[in-house]
Amino acid sequence: MAPAKVVIVGAGFAGIGCARELAKHPHHAEVTLVDAHDYHQFLPLLYQVATFQLAGTDVSMDLDELFRRHDNVTFRLATATSVDPTTKTVTLDDGTTLEADHLVLAAGSQANFFGTPGAEHTFPLYSLDDARRLRTRVIEAFEEGERDPSAIETGGLTFVVVGAGATGTEIAGALADLIRDVMPSRFHDEQLARARVVIVDAGTAVLGPFSPKAHEYASKVLTERGVEIKLGTKVSDITADRVVLSDGDTIDTRCVIWGGGLEAAPLAAASGLTQGRGGRIDVGTDLTVNGFPGVFVIGDLANIPADDGRPFPQLGSVALQAGQWTAKNIVADVDGKEMEPFAYHDKGIMAMIGHNAAIAEMGEHRHELHGAVGYAAWLGVHAYLMSGVHQRTDAFVDWAWDEFNKRRVLDTTDEARLHWEGDDDA
Ligand SMILES: Cc1cc2nc3c(=O)[nH]c(=O)nc-3n(C[C@H](O)[C@H](O)[C@H](O)COP(=O)(O)OP(=O)(O)OC[C@H]3O[C@@H](n4cnc5c(N)ncnc54)[C@H](O)[C@@H]3O)c2cc1C
Repeated sequence: MAPAKVVIVGAGFAGIGCARELAKHPHHAEVTLVDAHDYHQFLPLLYQVATFQLAGTDVSMDLDELFRRHDNVTFRLATATSVDPTTKTVTLDDGTTLEADHLVLAAGSQANFFGTPGAEHTFPLYSLDDARRLRTRVIEAFEEGERDPSAIETGGLTFVVVGAGATGTEIAGALADLIRDVMPSRFHDEQLARARVVIVDAGTAVLGPFSPKAHEYASKVLTERGVEIKLGTKVSDITADRVVLSDGDTIDTRCVIWGGGLEAAPLAAASGLTQGRGGRIDVGTDLTVNGFPGVFVIGDLANIPADDGRPFPQLGSVALQAGQWTAKNIVADVDGKEMEPFAYHDKGIMAMIGHNAAIAEMGEHRHELHGAVGYAAWLGVHAYLMSGVHQRTDAFVDWAWDEFNKRRVLDTTDEARLHWEGDDDA
């Protein structure tokens, strides 16, 4: 039996989860993994890159290197421009067409600006490039404020975060910690005292998908750390130097961070498949598209039905497990066996609010942990996620240990990890 040709588009949690599992089955699958980048990016830690806690290299992994020892997986650096689900073919930006027996679409998400005017002035946080761009803007803002303190009056050190979900909360908390704990090693107190972090959200709670107790805890921690929270308010317009809010208020700022929502990556539309909620493609419980046997859509690109019929949330753990499950279904299909419905092992939801303050709602029953215990749970789940896509988790574990134990010192070189007081090389 010749191995089946499998093409996977996207090397995020879902695509890597699938490719790593199929790498164990060289007699069943010959895999081509396509991604627009030559590295996997670990999105949950982007805010640490943006706030000088981790280097970009700590949260990315070279894809050639990852599959070097697996002869049945070939990595191809290219952007998929269109997909024909009927013939199971993918066209790449270099004009080549790849044919597959099993096609796996795992191209993830992009920021959804919901038509807000001025989106081009924002700093989204959905890729490593985004995180580096934001990091540059943050340090520039402080340097400008030092050169010309009058710039602070016109919002030079005001950071507006749109969205009080996990992304918005994590970046707002990390910025507040940066201003409070790290920047004093380099900038004057009078300047830092005038820096502002403001979260704006149309909803009624910080960390909406969490429990009411978690909303309260997150709001309390952020407020204590100086973050201003404006709920029930939309950002209705963004310019280069201010945001206009739905209540008519304006905030002068030159740094608007967008954590306001997600939609499917453009490949969903380019596949011609019917798009559902969030522009994502609806799939069946076996993760294939109804009417297109052998076409799997997984991770953030898909609406994957849970037992209650509602789609699973866009989470790394859902994407990783769906990728691994898809690989098992492909192997079963090649063996002429029935494919199994996706069974998700729910590890819970969690968010880091700042130094030593995290919330974890563990498992299906959402057992709630706050503070240092929440932090330990957050660490465990992120180490699990990272080991699913990377081979090395040491930089992350070192970071987490230091985060808990030491005081940070600012290091703004691009690739150097944050230094910690007490490190030999700090
Ligand atoms: C800032 C942030 C923080 C997060 N924090 C957490 C968290 O703490 N815990 C958690 O569980 N989840 C978290 N998530 C969600 C989680 O990261 C996503 O659910 C997960 O990354 C989805 O995996 P995926 O494989 O579907 O897509 P992605 O990880 O987005 O990967 C998609 C891949 O497809 C590639 N691609 C896209 N289009 C094309 C194309 N046309 N051709 C070729 N390649 C293409 C991209 O380059 C990318 O490598 C976070 C997300 C963000 C943005």
